[in-house]
Amino acid sequence: MYAQRLDHLPPYLFARIDAMKGEKISQGVDVIDLGVGDPDLPTPEHIVDALCSAARDPANHHYPSYTGMLAYREAVAEWYAARFGVDLAPKSEVVALIGSKEGIAHIPEAFVNPGDYVLAADPGYPVYKTSTLFAEGKVHEMPLAAENNFLPVLEDIPAEVVAKAKLLFINYPNNPTAAIAPKSFFAEVVEFAREHGIVVVHDNAYSEITFDGYVAPSFLEVDGAMEVGVEMHSLSKTYNMTGWRIGMACGNPEIIAGLGRVKTNIDSGAFDAIQHAAITALTGSQECVGAACEIYQERRDVLVKGLRELGFEVAAPKATFYVWMPVDDSMSFAAKLLDEAGIVATPGIGFGSHGEGYVRFAITRSVERIEEAVERMQGMSL
Ligand SMILES: *Cc1c(COP(=O)(O)O)cnc(C)c1O
Repeated sequence: MYAQRLDHLPPYLFARIDAMKGEKISQGVDVIDLGVGDPDLPTPEHIVDALCSAARDPANHHYPSYTGMLAYREAVAEWYAARFGVDLAPKSEVVALIGSKEGIAHIPEAFVNPGDYVLAADPGYPVYKTSTLFAEGKVHEMPLAAENNFLPVLEDIPAEVVAKAKLLFINYPNNPTAAIAPKSFFAEVVEFAREHGIVVVHDNAYSEITFDGYVAPSFLEVDGAMEVGVEMHSLSKTYNMTGWRIGMACGNPEIIAGLGRVKTNIDSGAFDAIQHAAITALTGSQECVGAACEIYQERRDVLVKGLRELGFEVAAPKATFYVWMPVDDSMSFAAKLLDEAGIVATPGIGFGSHGEGYVRFAITRSVERIEEAVERMQGMSL
């Protein structure tokens, strides 16, 4: 019944944990879910208010423009200039996305011919691989290892793969490893992409979720980046707007145009009222962003301290709302945690084979719940 491309998708390895979680909940267990990469904090009120009034305006009830409202693209450009010092032409270097996942899912359609390679990190956000497979491309997995600070080693990619590579996905601050990248790494990527004619897609979904004074860069800040790549960004993590589905792709105008041509044939843009609310988010006070980071930072500290006291060697991340912890066997560790303590963590293997040996905790629950999770783990033999 189904097309072969569905058979080619990688197995969904979270299914076992999902099933166990459902079972625990149905047994009445008070499950602490540190699995979900979705902020528990609400969208700031001024943004919700902007949506409500925009939703009442019939002018916003029609088909949106394919590329996004010009006012939204201008707000994105204004935000990029203020935040990163990056100048973007709103009409040609910005396109609205229905969440950055949508842009990631569609971009291979514009650049990948059947059999071309796409370079994607492993472990990584699963959509880089699945979108490549939908476009009939081949995935080359770039391992992210602790000894390389979870950065891919570009020299390790075989020459025959590089020769047939069309796209390179990178993502820093990184999900799931919570690693950050120095600008020198981005400069290396630009050099590599230029030399081999590869389109770079940097997924910067977590640039605003940072701690200890760390400020994450945009890929587009680096010299030459605008020539070779685009950045996918989103309001989801920054403003707790995952359910709203609004993001942006920014950068090289030819690449943006290619993505735009795919999009005009598939979707009809994001609801104008949501774009109005997004303008409010991007151009209004950014105090809410700092406040959320303070909350995440406190949770991170509680979890990392608790895990270290339990004897785990775990790094305190400078960004993202994840803690990436080394364990022996990721699936059995996650299963045991859920079975014996009612705690959901995500087994690293679900993000790719090189994610084995880790579990990911999401700090998208309150300090009280995280403290309780640590207490429950103290009662286990881990
Ligand atoms: C959350 C996430 C996204 C997707 O965010 P959208 O809600 O689609 O904008 C993209 N990349 C990574 C790495 C993420 O974790």
